[in-house]
Amino acid sequence: MNSNRRDFLKQGLLALGSLFVIKGGISSVFAADKKAAAKKGAAADKAAPLPAGQTEVPATDAVVAAIGYKSNPKDIDKKKYAQYKADQKCSNCALYTAVDGKNWGNCTMLAGKGVVNGNGWCGSWSKKS
Ligand code: SF4
Repeated sequence: MNSNRRDFLKQGLLALGSLFVIKGGISSVFAADKKAAAKKGAAADKAAPLPAGQTEVPATDAVVAAIGYKSNPKDIDKKKYAQYKADQKCSNCALYTAVDGKNWGNCTMLAGKGVVNGNGWCGSWSKKS
Protein backbone atom coordinates (compact mmCIF):
# COMPACT_ATOMS: atom_id res chain seq x y z
CA MET A 1 0.00 0.00 0.00
CA ASN A 2 1.52 3.30 -0.96
CA SER A 3 1.50 6.30 1.38
CA ASN A 4 -1.08 8.28 -0.62
CA ARG A 5 -3.55 5.45 -0.39
CA ARG A 6 -2.78 4.97 3.35
CA ASP A 7 -3.26 8.70 4.02
CA PHE A 8 -6.50 8.66 2.07
CA LEU A 9 -7.81 5.72 4.17
CA LYS A 10 -6.68 7.39 7.43
CA GLN A 11 -8.47 10.59 6.52
CA GLY A 12 -11.58 8.65 5.57
CA LEU A 13 -11.59 6.83 8.92
CA LEU A 14 -11.06 10.12 10.77
CA ALA A 15 -13.96 11.71 8.89
CA LEU A 16 -16.17 8.70 9.64
CA GLY A 17 -15.21 8.85 13.34
CA SER A 18 -16.04 12.57 13.40
CA LEU A 19 -19.48 11.84 11.97
CA PHE A 20 -20.19 9.38 14.80
CA VAL A 21 -19.09 11.96 17.40
CA ILE A 22 -21.28 14.64 15.82
CA LYS A 23 -24.23 12.25 15.56
CA GLY A 24 -23.84 11.32 19.24
CA GLY A 25 -23.79 15.00 20.20
CA ILE A 26 -26.92 15.75 18.20
CA SER A 27 -28.68 12.69 19.60
CA SER A 28 -27.99 13.78 23.16
CA VAL A 29 -29.30 17.28 22.39
CA PHE A 30 -32.53 15.74 21.06
CA ALA A 31 -32.75 13.43 24.09
CA ALA A 32 -32.49 16.48 26.38
CA ASP A 33 -35.26 18.21 24.38
CA LYS A 34 -37.46 15.11 24.70
CA LYS A 35 -36.93 15.05 28.49
CA ALA A 36 -37.83 18.75 28.76
CA ALA A 37 -40.99 18.20 26.68
CA ALA A 38 -42.00 15.25 28.88
CA LYS A 39 -41.54 17.39 32.01
CA LYS A 40 -43.63 20.18 30.49
CA GLY A 41 -46.38 17.65 29.67
CA ALA A 42 -46.43 16.39 33.23
CA ALA A 43 -46.75 19.95 34.50
CA ALA A 44 -49.61 20.59 32.07
CA ASP A 45 -51.43 17.57 33.52
CA LYS A 46 -51.54 19.17 36.95
CA ALA A 47 -54.87 20.61 37.98
CA ALA A 48 -55.55 24.25 37.24
CA PRO A 49 -55.39 26.49 40.30
CA LEU A 50 -58.58 26.74 42.32
CA PRO A 51 -60.77 29.76 41.61
CA ALA A 52 -60.26 32.58 44.14
CA GLY A 53 -61.96 31.93 47.46
CA GLN A 54 -62.93 28.35 46.57
CA THR A 55 -61.86 25.02 48.02
CA GLU A 56 -62.19 21.57 46.51
CA VAL A 57 -64.76 19.23 48.02
CA PRO A 58 -63.03 17.34 50.85
CA ALA A 59 -62.18 13.71 50.14
CA THR A 60 -63.06 12.95 53.78
CA ASP A 61 -66.68 14.07 53.34
CA ALA A 62 -69.09 11.12 53.60
CA VAL A 63 -71.02 11.98 50.42
CA VAL A 64 -67.84 12.69 48.42
CA ALA A 65 -66.47 9.30 49.50
CA ALA A 66 -69.78 7.50 48.93
CA ILE A 67 -70.03 8.61 45.30
CA GLY A 68 -66.34 7.86 44.73
CA TYR A 69 -65.38 11.35 43.57
CA LYS A 70 -61.75 11.67 42.50
CA SER A 71 -60.25 14.86 41.16
CA ASN A 72 -57.70 12.88 39.17
CA PRO A 73 -59.08 10.08 36.97
CA LYS A 74 -55.91 8.08 37.66
CA ASP A 75 -57.18 7.59 41.22
CA ILE A 76 -60.53 6.07 40.25
CA ASP A 77 -60.99 2.50 41.44
CA LYS A 78 -61.59 1.01 37.98
CA LYS A 79 -62.64 -2.36 39.41
CA LYS A 80 -65.28 -0.86 41.67
CA TYR A 81 -66.43 1.61 39.01
CA ALA A 82 -66.27 -0.53 35.87
CA GLN A 83 -68.71 1.85 34.17
CA TYR A 84 -66.06 4.60 34.07
CA LYS A 85 -64.98 5.68 30.58
CA ALA A 86 -62.06 7.98 29.85
CA ASP A 87 -64.25 10.59 28.12
CA GLN A 88 -66.45 11.01 31.21
CA LYS A 89 -65.51 13.94 33.43
CA CYS A 90 -67.18 16.34 35.79
CA SER A 91 -67.02 19.08 33.14
CA ASN A 92 -69.31 17.09 30.83
CA CYS A 93 -71.56 15.78 33.57
CA ALA A 94 -75.20 16.95 33.78
CA LEU A 95 -74.69 17.89 37.44
CA TYR A 96 -71.74 20.24 36.78
CA THR A 97 -72.07 24.02 36.73
CA ALA A 98 -68.87 25.76 35.67
CA VAL A 99 -67.20 28.18 38.08
CA ASP A 100 -63.94 28.40 36.14
CA GLY A 101 -64.84 26.96 32.73
CA LYS A 102 -63.92 23.32 32.40
CA ASN A 103 -61.34 23.56 35.19
CA TRP A 104 -63.57 23.80 38.27
CA GLY A 105 -67.27 23.81 38.92
CA ASN A 106 -70.08 23.11 41.36
CA CYS A 107 -71.73 19.72 41.54
CA THR A 108 -75.43 19.54 42.39
CA MET A 109 -74.81 16.44 44.51
CA LEU A 110 -72.08 18.15 46.49
CA ALA A 111 -73.70 21.56 46.91
CA GLY A 112 -72.08 23.70 49.57
CA LYS A 113 -69.10 21.39 50.03
CA GLY A 114 -66.73 23.09 47.58
CA VAL A 115 -65.90 22.84 43.89
CA VAL A 116 -65.10 19.75 41.85
CA ASN A 117 -62.28 19.44 39.36
CA GLY A 118 -63.49 19.55 35.76
CA ASN A 119 -61.32 16.51 35.01
CA GLY A 120 -62.69 14.69 38.04
CA TRP A 121 -65.29 11.95 38.06
CA CYS A 122 -67.58 10.03 40.35
CA GLY A 123 -69.87 7.01 40.15
CA SER A 124 -72.90 9.30 39.69
CA TRP A 125 -71.60 10.80 36.43
CA SER A 126 -74.45 11.45 34.08
CA LYS A 127 -74.13 12.67 30.48
CA LYS A 128 -74.87 16.34 29.95
CA SER A 129 -77.57 16.67 27.29
S1 SF4 B 1 -72.01 13.99 39.83
FE1 SF4 B 1 -70.93 14.69 38.02
S2 SF4 B 1 -70.14 16.73 38.55
FE2 SF4 B 1 -70.70 15.69 40.44
S3 SF4 B 1 -68.80 14.74 41.16
FE3 SF4 B 1 -69.92 13.21 39.96
S4 SF4 B 1 -69.11 13.37 37.89
FE4 SF4 B 1 -68.50 15.23 38.98
